[in-house]
Amino acid sequence: MTAAPATDSGRVLSAPLRVAFDYTRSTGPVLGAFMTGLRERRVVGIRTSDDRVVVPPVEFDPVTYAPLSTDDLVPVADHGTVVTWTWVSEPVAGQPVAEPFAFALITLDGATAPLLHAVKASGPSALTTGMTVRAVWSDTPQGHITDIRFFEPVAAAGRERYGATEPGAEGAAPAVDGPGPRATKERGWLDGATPSGAGNAPTASESDPVTGIVTPVELDYVYEASPEESAFFRGLAEGRILGQRCPACQKVYVPPRGACPVDGVPTTDEVELPDHGIVTTYCVVNVPFLGQKITPPYVSAYVLLEGADIGFLHLIQGVAADEVRMGMRVKAVWKPREEWGTTVENILHFEPTGEPDADFESFRAHL
Ligand SMILES: [Zn+2]
Repeated sequence: MTAAPATDSGRVLSAPLRVAFDYTRSTGPVLGAFMTGLRERRVVGIRTSDDRVVVPPVEFDPVTYAPLSTDDLVPVADHGTVVTWTWVSEPVAGQPVAEPFAFALITLDGATAPLLHAVKASGPSALTTGMTVRAVWSDTPQGHITDIRFFEPVAAAGRERYGATEPGAEGAAPAVDGPGPRATKERGWLDGATPSGAGNAPTASESDPVTGIVTPVELDYVYEASPEESAFFRGLAEGRILGQRCPACQKVYVPPRGACPVDGVPTTDEVELPDHGIVTTYCVVNVPFLGQKITPPYVSAYVLLEGADIGFLHLIQGVAADEVRMGMRVKAVWKPREEWGTTVENILHFEPTGEPDADFESFRAHL
C-alpha cells in the first residue's frame, strides 16, 4: 500500500491510497490449454455433455458435473456475433480500452455460449446486437485473456469473408484460417491434445504450456481521516503521539477512535503519550509481497505505549526477529525532524530499550 502526502482541508486530513497485489493462480490443464491457445492467437472452447461449446472452456460439465478434459476441447474462431452489449462511456484504469468502448457478450463462430470481452467502436451507434466482430490480437501475446486486446466490428466486406460459418452450427469447422495475423502454422498444439494427434511433432506449446496466470489487482481511493485521527496525524507532524481518554471508563485509545467502543460516548479528553512502551502481541512476517519495503523476516507488533490501553501497530527493528517477545520494552526511532509529515511513518520503527521485560500480568488486560 502506498500513500501520497496528505491534503489538509482545515478540518480533516485526506490522502490518496493505492492497494495493489498480484493475484496468481494455476490454470490446470483445461484453462491452461485456453491460455496456451491465446498465446498462439487461437481460441479454444470445450464441448459439454449437452453438446454446447463453451468459451472459455469450463473444467466441469455444467449438466453432469463430471470433470472435462483436454480431449473435450474444440477450436473456435476468433470472430463471432455480438449477443448483447453495454457502452462504457467513461473507462477507468485497467479496463481493456482507454477510450470509450463496449463490454459485449460475443458468441464466437463454432461456439454456442458467449464470451465476455471488449468491443472497440467509434460510438454506441456503431454497435448492434447481431453484428459480426473479430479479435484484435496483442503483438506480444503472453497466454492471458488480454492477448485479445479487444474485438472490432467487421466491415460489410469483411462480414462476407467471415460469414462462411453459421454461428453455433453443429459440426461446422470454424473459419480459423481467415485473414489476419493468426498463427495457423501451429495448429498442431490442439490436435496434439487428442488421440488423433499422437505422433505429431511436439510444438512449442506442448513443451511449454501455460500453467499459471498473474492478474494484477489494484484499488485506488482517497482516505479521509476523522477529525480525531486528523488531530493524531497533526500531532505526529510535531513529534507528538496523541490519544484520547474515555470519560466513562478512563481508557486511553491511540490512535483515537472518536468514541469509546465500550461505553459509546465521545472521547474528547486529549492525552499525549510517550514514545515508548512494551510489545504485547506480534507476528514475524516471512512472506514477501508486492510493495514490501523491508526484507523478511521482520516483526510487526502491537506496542502498548505507556499510559495507553490499546496497542499501537508498528514495526520492531534493531533486534533479530526471533528474539522479539511479549513484554519486551521498546522505544520509537524517529526519522530526521525535517522529514516529518502527517504520517505514522515519521516513526521508522520501534527498537528494544534493553530494560527488563514487563511482567505478563501488567499487560494481559491489554491484549
Ligand atoms: Zn469507555
